[in-house]
Amino acid sequence: MDRDSLKRHLEFYRDLGIKQLNIPEPTQAAEAPNERLQPMAWNSEVQAIPGERSPSMTAPRTPIVQAVPSVLDFVPEGDTLEGILADIGDCARCRLCEKRNKIVFGSGDPQAKLVFVGEGPGADEDQQGLPFVGRAGQLLTQMINATASKEGIAIRREDVYICNVVKCRPPENRTPLPDEAEICGQFLFRQLMAIRPKAICALGGSAAKALLGTREGITKLRGNWQDWRGIPVMPTYHPSFLLRPYSQNAKREAWEDLKKALHYVYD
Ligand code: URA
Repeated sequence: MDRDSLKRHLEFYRDLGIKQLNIPEPTQAAEAPNERLQPMAWNSEVQAIPGERSPSMTAPRTPIVQAVPSVLDFVPEGDTLEGILADIGDCARCRLCEKRNKIVFGSGDPQAKLVFVGEGPGADEDQQGLPFVGRAGQLLTQMINATASKEGIAIRREDVYICNVVKCRPPENRTPLPDEAEICGQFLFRQLMAIRPKAICALGGSAAKALLGTREGITKLRGNWQDWRGIPVMPTYHPSFLLRPYSQNAKREAWEDLKKALHYVYD
């Protein structure tokens, strides 16, 4: 990364409110299992050129390693939900601030073992400043409480943590745009790092995309464990989708997915 792009990255993180920098030293790939450190020039699978000594016969060369900084390299030590909320402040980092009423940060147990991630606040959430309090929220609450109770798991909605990819309501409840999801997603990542739950449930395509960086649709992803930085992620349908009259089958599947997540976390 050249000086200019590094400068732009650092300014971006400063705008996000991140003040402390902890930039990893580029090291030999073998010592750096960090997936963001990608060996660029040499590895043991390089084919030997006839007449040259094979790589394994030569002294190991230092690979050129390109470190791609992520916001998680700059997370303040001892980051807390209160600290993240303070960094968000009266946010105007993207256009979603223009029409929002309240920032919807998240709610629930800050030490929850299970975190649900939705897409973004709707009208009710924007009014109250709390996630999943409208119709979709009532369905989510019912799903959590009823499934846990039926499965003999002693938790209720208030025992998990619930938040969204974007913290401000997108106009007309449209899907967050990629730049909005990227800017606000940094705060979501910090929330997840601060909570370090045992598992995450991604509600719908936007949450799955933000966490997994995949283009795969939710219909294909759902029900199968994925991974976000070592934390298992269960993608499932968004409750708003389940409210549609023709999604009976999806409802059954979402209940199955939730059961899987609850048993994994609480058994
Ligand atoms: N839909 C979401 O994705 N999040 C909410 O908080 C409410 C509805």
